[in-house]
Amino acid sequence: MNPTVYYIEGDGIGPEVWKAARPVIDAAVEKTYGDGRRLEWNELLAGEKAYEATGSYLPEETLETLKTATLAMKGPLTTPVGKGFRSLNVTMRQTLDLYACIRPVRYFQGIESPVKSPENVDVVVFRENTEDVYAGIEYAAESAEAARLIAFLREELGAEVDPSSGVGIKPICAWRSKRLVRKAIRFALDNGRKSVTLVHKGNIMKYTEGAFRQWGYDLAAEEFGDVTIPESAGENAGDRVVINDRIADAMFQEALIRPEQYDVLATTNLNGDYLSDALAAQVGGLGLAPGVNMSDDLAFFEPTHGTAPTIAGQDKANPGSLVLSGAMLLAHIGWTEAADRIHKAVDMVIGAKTVTIDLATQIKGSKTVGCTEFGELLLAQL
Ligand code: NAD
Repeated sequence: MNPTVYYIEGDGIGPEVWKAARPVIDAAVEKTYGDGRRLEWNELLAGEKAYEATGSYLPEETLETLKTATLAMKGPLTTPVGKGFRSLNVTMRQTLDLYACIRPVRYFQGIESPVKSPENVDVVVFRENTEDVYAGIEYAAESAEAARLIAFLREELGAEVDPSSGVGIKPICAWRSKRLVRKAIRFALDNGRKSVTLVHKGNIMKYTEGAFRQWGYDLAAEEFGDVTIPESAGENAGDRVVINDRIADAMFQEALIRPEQYDVLATTNLNGDYLSDALAAQVGGLGLAPGVNMSDDLAFFEPTHGTAPTIAGQDKANPGSLVLSGAMLLAHIGWTEAADRIHKAVDMVIGAKTVTIDLATQIKGSKTVGCTEFGELLLAQL
C-alpha cells in the first residue's frame, strides 16, 4: 500500500513546482485513505543538481535504479545547448524503452479557449515514442551518406529521388505498433472509455502509416476480440470498446468539429506530436498539460512543459501540470478517488480565478497568485 515513487526534481522551475505540488499529491492521498496509504518518495539525481553533486548530468546510478523501477516522476530537464550533448530526456526515453507517450487532454472551466465548446474535449493521446521519422535516421543534402542512399534508391529500386535531396527514413514495424495499440486498448478498457481511434496517414504512406492502422486492427482482433468491436462491423457496441480509424488530416478537423466523439487516440510518433499540442491548444494551452512516458515496466510521469528559464526562481511558475501528473500517477495505480480529489481541487481553484500568471492572461477578471500560493489554494480545496 506504500509504493515507491522515484523522483527527479529537474532544472529551472523544477524545484519550485515540486515544492508546491508534492504536498498537494500527498495530502490528496492522506485525505482519501488516512494512514492506510502513502507514496514513498525517493529522490534520484539528474540535470544540474546531479552535475553539481557528481560531475555527471545523468549518473549511472539514476539510470540503473530507473531500470528496476515501476513508478517515477520528473520535473523538466534542461538540454544544454552545444554540440554533442544528447538530451537527457531522449537518453532516458531510449535507455528505458519508454515507448508510449500518453497525454490526457481535457478542459478546465473558465480558461479562455479559441474554440466554442472546449468542454467537449476529453481525450487521451497515445503517441508511439520510438520510431517513425523521429528515429533520427537522417542524412543531409549533398552528404556522402545521402548520395549513397539516393544512388541505391535510384539504381536498385528505381525510385525517383532528386540527387540533391536530404533524406530521412521512416521505420514503422508491427511489434512496436502493436505494443502501443495494446496499451491504448487496455487503458480504454480499464477506464471505461468507449473507443480507440487509430490515427494515421495510410492513404498516402501505405506501408508505414497504413501498416500501423492494419496492425492496430489485427492486434485488437487477436488479443481483445471479445471486448472490442471494429466500427466497420456496424453492430451495437454494447459495453465493448469500438476500434475505428481516421486519417490524420481528417482527425484534426474532427477534433475541432466533433471532439465529443473521440476518447482514446493511438497514433504514430509525428502525428502524435502535432495532435497532442493542437488538442492542448484547443483547451487553452500547455499550462495544465500532464503526461507520462511508459515502457512495459516503468510509468515515468512528467509535466509537458520545459524548465521555463526566464521565470525560474521567481515563484511565478504554474505547478498545475506537475500536480496533474501526480493525479495521473494515482489513477495509474488505481487510487482514483485521490486522483479525482486533485482534479476537483484544480477545477475549484481555477473556477475561483485565482491562478498563476500564465493562466491569468487566459482568464478574464482573474487574480494572479504565485506558485507557492497556488499550491496552498489547491491544498485548501482538497
Ligand atoms: P518551456 O516549456 O520551458 O517554456 C515555454 C513557455 O512556457 C515560456 O514562456 C515559459 O515561461 C512558459 N512556461 C512553461 N512552463 C510553465 C509553467 N509551469 N508555468 C508558467 N509558465 C510556464 O519551453 P522552452 O523554453 O522551449 O524550453 C526551455 C528548456 O526546457 C530547454 O532547455 C528545453 O530543452 C527544456 N525542455 C525540457 C522538457 C522536459 O524535460 N520534458 C520539455 C520541454 C523543454
